[in-house]
Amino acid sequence: MKYRLIMIVSLIGALVSGCDSAKNSASADTIYVDGDILTMEGDTPTYAEAVAVKDGEILFVGDRQTAFTYRTEATDVINLEGKTFMPGFIDSHGHIYGVGLQTISARLLSPPDGTVTTVADILTIMQAYIDDPVNQELITKTGWIIGFGYDDSLLDFYPTAKDLDKLDTDYPVMIIHTSLHLSVLNSKGLEVAGFTAETENPQGGIIRRKAGTNEPNGVLEEMPFIVTIFGIMNSFDENIQAAMIKGGQDLYASYGFTTAQEARASTAGLQALERASKDGKLVMDVVAYADFQRAKDSLSTSYYGQTYTNRYRIGGVKLGFDGSPQGKTAWLTHAYHVAPDGQPADYAGYGSYPDAKAFALIDEAFEKDWQVLVHANGDAAIDQMITGIALATEKYGPKDRRPVLIHGQTLRQDQIGKLAELDIFPSLFPIHTFYWGDWHEQSVLGQPRADFISPAKAVLEAGLKFTSHHDAPVVLPNAMRILSATVTRRTRSGKVLGPDQSVSTYIALKSITDWAAYQLFEEADKGTLAVGKKADFVILDQNPLKVDPDSLMEIKVLQTISAGKVIYEKP
Ligand SMILES: [Zn+2]
Ligand SMILES: [Zn+2]
Repeated sequence: MKYRLIMIVSLIGALVSGCDSAKNSASADTIYVDGDILTMEGDTPTYAEAVAVKDGEILFVGDRQTAFTYRTEATDVINLEGKTFMPGFIDSHGHIYGVGLQTISARLLSPPDGTVTTVADILTIMQAYIDDPVNQELITKTGWIIGFGYDDSLLDFYPTAKDLDKLDTDYPVMIIHTSLHLSVLNSKGLEVAGFTAETENPQGGIIRRKAGTNEPNGVLEEMPFIVTIFGIMNSFDENIQAAMIKGGQDLYASYGFTTAQEARASTAGLQALERASKDGKLVMDVVAYADFQRAKDSLSTSYYGQTYTNRYRIGGVKLGFDGSPQGKTAWLTHAYHVAPDGQPADYAGYGSYPDAKAFALIDEAFEKDWQVLVHANGDAAIDQMITGIALATEKYGPKDRRPVLIHGQTLRQDQIGKLAELDIFPSLFPIHTFYWGDWHEQSVLGQPRADFISPAKAVLEAGLKFTSHHDAPVVLPNAMRILSATVTRRTRSGKVLGPDQSVSTYIALKSITDWAAYQLFEEADKGTLAVGKKADFVILDQNPLKVDPDSLMEIKVLQTISAGKVIYEKP
C-alpha cells in the first residue's frame, strides 16, 4: 500500500517535472534517509528520519513517509547506511586566506600535525622546500621564502636569524610562528624588511635583539611581524591568490566546514576573495572581517552586509588587542608563570593599543553599526574590550550588535558576568588545551589559571551561548579536534586540564553549528536542519554523540555538502 502510494506520487511528480512549472513545485532534488540525522535543533539531541533538499535549500525535515511525497523520478534518494548526517560546520573564527598561505608555504608543524621537533628539522624542511622545483615560480614571484607553523614550545631552542642564515639561498626567508603572532627572519629578510639596530620597537610589538646589543636577532613579535607579512602578501599576484583560496577551501571542506571566515582580512585578501567570488571559485560561504586599521574602507562596498554575493560577504571589522599566550605576548593582569628570555619576572605581556585608542576604535564600530570582533587573550586585554564595549553601549544605547570576544583564553569568572550584561558573544579557544595545555600549566600561566583557560562551562552556566574555534592556520581547521578538546580538555601529554570546564559533546557540537550561525547573524539560514535553511551538511562515519569522548578524534568526515552540492568526498 505504502509502496503504491509512493509510486503514484512519483508518477505525478514525473508528469509535473515535464512542464515549466516544475521549478516551483515541491519536488526534491535529493532525499537523505537511513542514517542518524541529527538536526541540532533544541537543547537536547533530536533526530529526523529524512531530509529533503531542493535548489540548495532544505525542503523538508521529518518522517520518511512525508519526505517521500517530495520524490519524483529526478530525485536522488541517498541511503546514509547508518552514517551520521548533520548541519555543516560553521567557522566561528579562522583565517581561510591564511590557511591558503599555509598551503603554499613550507610546512613546519610539530606532531601530531607535522614532524618538526628541532630547529635542525626546520632547516631540513626549509632547504628541501627551497630546492624543490615546484616552488621556484612562487619564490621568484614573491621574492621571499616562507615557512609556516613553527612552535617554540615544542622545539629544542628558539630559532633566530643566525640559524636561518645557514640555509643555502640568497632570498629573504621568513618562518611564521603557528600562533600567527610572531616570525623569524634571516639576515637578508631583516635587511629587505628594513629592521636594523636603529629601528625602535613600534607600538604593540617587539623586535627582539641579540643579547647585550640593539641588533635585531631575527624574531619579530606582533606589529612588526604583521606589517611585514601584510607587505609580502600584498605583492602576491592573482594566480598565487587563487591558489591560496582554493587550497584554503579544500582543507576546510575536508574537515566538514561549509562556512569559513577570513577573520582579519587585509586589502589584498579582500580583493582576492572578491575576485574568487566573481569568478565563481568559492564553493562554500566565506565571511570576511576587515582588519580595522588597514582595510575598513571595504565596508563601504556592496559586499558588506548580511547577504552573500556568489558565496562571499564582509561581516564587519576585526581588532586585535593583544598577542597569544603560547607566544607569551598575551596581555595579562598578573605576571607570566615563567617570564620569556630577557624579560623581568613581573613581565605580563602587553596590549596593542593604549586605552584611549582601543576605546575610540570600538566607538567607531558602534557609530557605524559594524559588527566588531576583538581578539583578546589576556585578561587585561579582555578588561580593555569590556570597558570599551561598555562605554560605547552607554553612548549609543542598547541594540543587537553581537560584538565578539575572540579567544578570551584567560577570562576570569568576574568578567564572564560582564559579557552577559553587555551581550558580548564569546568565541572560545578550548582547542588550546590540547595543543598548548601542558605549556600553559608549566610555563605560561601556572595553576590555578591554567585550569580555568577557555572556561566553556562557566560561560554556559552564566547563561551564554559560545562558539569554539580552530583559528586556522594557527592549528589545522579540524572540527573533530575542536570537539575533542572542548569535551575532554585532554593535553598532548594525556592530562585533563581543568575538568570542571568540560562540556558535553552535544554542547560542543552546538558551538560549531547552531551557535556559530548565531554569532554570524545567520541563525535563520544555517546551523540546524530546518525547512528553508541552506542545504549545508556533513556526513560522518560515526555519531559523535554515541562514541566515547576520547574517541572523537577517530571520527572521519565522509562527505561535505554546501548548498546541496558535494564539495568534499573522502577518498
Ligand atoms: Zn586571534
Ligand atoms: Zn585569529
